[in-house]
Amino acid sequence: LLRVRDLHVSFGGTPVVHGVDLDVARGERVAIVGQSGSGKSTVVAAVLRLLPGAGHITQGSIRLGDDDLTTAGEARMRTVRGARIGLVPQDPSTNLNPSMTVGAQIADGLRAGGARGRAAVADRVVELMTEAGIPDAARRAGQFPHEFSGGMRQRVLIAVALARRPDLLIADEPTSALDVTVQRTILDHLQTLVDAHGTSLLFITHDLGVAADRTDRIVVMLEGRVVETGTPRQILLDPQHEYTRRLVAAAP
Ligand code: ATP
Ligand code: MG
Repeated sequence: LLRVRDLHVSFGGTPVVHGVDLDVARGERVAIVGQSGSGKSTVVAAVLRLLPGAGHITQGSIRLGDDDLTTAGEARMRTVRGARIGLVPQDPSTNLNPSMTVGAQIADGLRAGGARGRAAVADRVVELMTEAGIPDAARRAGQFPHEFSGGMRQRVLIAVALARRPDLLIADEPTSALDVTVQRTILDHLQTLVDAHGTSLLFITHDLGVAADRTDRIVVMLEGRVVETGTPRQILLDPQHEYTRRLVAAAP
């Protein structure tokens, strides 16, 4: 589904991603693991062609299905971001409209994904919020983003991202700001939803344990490069790269 080849990204002339290859097959769940600054979010931003400021792709190719995202125009990219790739962003303040109820935002997504009928859409909003782990969803659909706590807002973002029925969901450290028990609950909901919809998942985290529990394949990044790729078993039991060995040793 997603095929990234030899991706190089620079910020204002400084290279930060040096030749990354990344594949996500249809229905596959892939994790990118790596320490802060290793380039995980930059790879995600390059795929979505949303690199901030002076960031640009200097080399490589990104394909989503038959679409070449390296050369796609902005109009095409808007469609890709709207309909084909859902993003649960690292910074939760970025993807919600503060002046629209969360129910209306999820309903917009559902309609963009092809849902029709006022009552059917309203029912589906409540269902999706409940599946994302939001209690009392029928009432809370009428509330605005600022009325939700950080953890609840993260669940709202998951519901918004999945409403359009994307082929690929990218979750960039979706729970890193939250405490561990809340993290686990949210990731359980995320996983259930992704499995139920057959959505492919690209899951970004610095926590190897979380990645190993919840994905089919782990990509380890260090300083802008992929240093190792393998199944959770391979990575945990037989890590090849010295950095991966350190990660495994440090995992609880
Ligand atoms: P974290 O786990 O902290 O989110 P990350 O792996 O997502 O880290 P990136 O945010 O992709 O790391 O950053 C990779 C490198 O690119 C870092 O050296 C960072 O300083 C640089 N970088 C990221 N965004 C910008 C930007 N807007 N302008 C300049 N440099 C940037
Ligand atoms: Mg990041």
